Amino acid sequence: MIDSSSFQGKKAAYYTLGCKLNFSETSTFAKLLQQLGVTTAQKGDKADICLINTCSVTDVADHKCRQAIHRLVREHPGAFVVVTGCYAQLESEAVSKMEGVDLVLGSDEKAQLVQFLSDAFVRQASVAENGGDTSIASEGAGRRQAECHRKPTKDIRSFAPSCSRGNRTRFFLKVQDGCDYFCTYCTIPYARGFSRNPTIASLVELARQAAAEGGKEIVLTGVNIGDFGKSTGERFIDLVRALDSVEGVARYRISSLEPDLLSDELIEFCAKSRAFMPHFHIPLQSGSDTVLQLMHRHYRRQLFADKIKHIKQLMPHAFVGVDVMVGCRGETPECFEETYDFLEKLDVSQLHVFPYSERPGTMALKIPYTVSEKDKKQRSKRLLALSDAKTQAFYEAHIGQMTEVLFEKAVRGRAMHGFTPNYIRVELPPQEVQNNLDNQIVTVRLGDFNRDKTALMTHLVNDKL
Ligand code: SF4
Repeated sequence: MIDSSSFQGKKAAYYTLGCKLNFSETSTFAKLLQQLGVTTAQKGDKADICLINTCSVTDVADHKCRQAIHRLVREHPGAFVVVTGCYAQLESEAVSKMEGVDLVLGSDEKAQLVQFLSDAFVRQASVAENGGDTSIASEGAGRRQAECHRKPTKDIRSFAPSCSRGNRTRFFLKVQDGCDYFCTYCTIPYARGFSRNPTIASLVELARQAAAEGGKEIVLTGVNIGDFGKSTGERFIDLVRALDSVEGVARYRISSLEPDLLSDELIEFCAKSRAFMPHFHIPLQSGSDTVLQLMHRHYRRQLFADKIKHIKQLMPHAFVGVDVMVGCRGETPECFEETYDFLEKLDVSQLHVFPYSERPGTMALKIPYTVSEKDKKQRSKRLLALSDAKTQAFYEAHIGQMTEVLFEKAVRGRAMHGFTPNYIRVELPPQEVQNNLDNQIVTVRLGDFNRDKTALMTHLVNDKL
C-alpha cells in the first residue's frame, strides 16, 4: 500500500539519460509522484527526492550516468537518491556503493518505483520517531551501501506502462519493452530483459487519454517495437490499425522498427492510413553483409533495400531515417566502403551515425578484428557528411510545396518550429509568432532554408499562414 502522506510537500529532481523510452518513463514517474503531492524542483531548489533514470548503451553513457549521480548528490544534499534504468540493472553493485545513493531499482522493479519509495519513507519516518539514523543505505565493511532491488535479467517480466508528454506538443506512448534479438554488440537485452508488451486495448485507452489532454501527436516507443505481441499474442499491425481509429489523435510516428519486422502489410497500411505519418526510422547498422552476419542481425542488405524501395514506391515523399554503426569489430576498410556505397545509393533522408563502443559481456568481444578510434572518427565524419547532403536534398525537393505543420510552443522572442507529416522542420520567424499557433496544425507553404539550414522557412501572409 502506498502511504501518500509521506510524499506530501516534497520536491523531486529528475535526470534522464539515453533513449526516448527512458524519457517517457521518467515523465510518467513524475506524473505519478505529482498525483501524490510531489512537485518538480525548479532551478536552484533543493530537492527531497532525486531520480536518475540511466542508460548503458556505450561506455560514454556509463560515465555520464556516474557523473550525473555525483552531481545530483552534490547539488541536493540530504535528498533521497534513487537510481534506476539500464546502468542500474547492469551495474547495480557498483551503483549501490556510490556515495549518496539510497535506492537502486533494476528493470523489473522500476515498475513499482512509487511503492519502493513509499516503503522507504515509512521506514525512515519510523526510525526518526525512535531517534535513529534515517538514511536507508546500510554500512557494510566500512562502506555505506544503498538498498538494492534487482532481479536477474531472465526474470524481468514486468511492464511499466507509460504515456507522457515529451514537450508541450508530442506524447510518447510505450508499446513494448525488452528484446529477444541479442545482436552481438548490444547490452539492451541484458539490461531490459525479454520482449514484452501490454494489450492493444490498454494502449488504445492511453491514446484516448492523451487525446483528451490535447495531444495531437503520439510517438510509439519501445526497444524492439515490431516484436510487439510476445506477451499477448496480438500483432503490431493490429495495434497500428486500432490506434489509427482513435479520435482526436491527428498524427502517429513509430520511433524505430527493425527492417525484418517492417512488414509489407504495415508499409501498405501507413501509405493509406489516416494518422500514421510517412516517416520511418529503420536501423540498418551496416551495409556490409559480412558485418551484418557478425552482428547477428536478422536480415541482409538486400532486404533493407527492398523495404526502402517499397516505402518510396507507395510514399515517394516519406522521410526515412537510418541508424548506422561505424567501427564495430570486424568492419574492415572494405566492409566500410561497402556500407558507404550502399547508403550513397539508398533513397533515404537522414543517417543517425553511432561509433561502436565495446561493451563488457557482449559476444562482439570475441571478434578479433578491431577498428582504431581514429578510423572510427573518420568513418563517422564521412557518413555524417553524406547524411547532411541527403537531408538537404530531401528538404530542397519540398521548397515551394503546400503542407501541414504541427507547431510547437516557442520560447519568448524566438522563432516557432514545427514538423510536417514527413518530418521536415519548419520555422516561423520570431516577429510572426502567434501564441495561438502552439499545438495547432496549420497549412503552410514551405520556403527556403533558414540561416543554419536546420529548417525550411514559412511566413504569415496578412497575419495568416
Ligand atoms: Fe539491441 Fe539488436 Fe535488440 Fe536493437 S534489436 S535492442 S540492437 S539486441
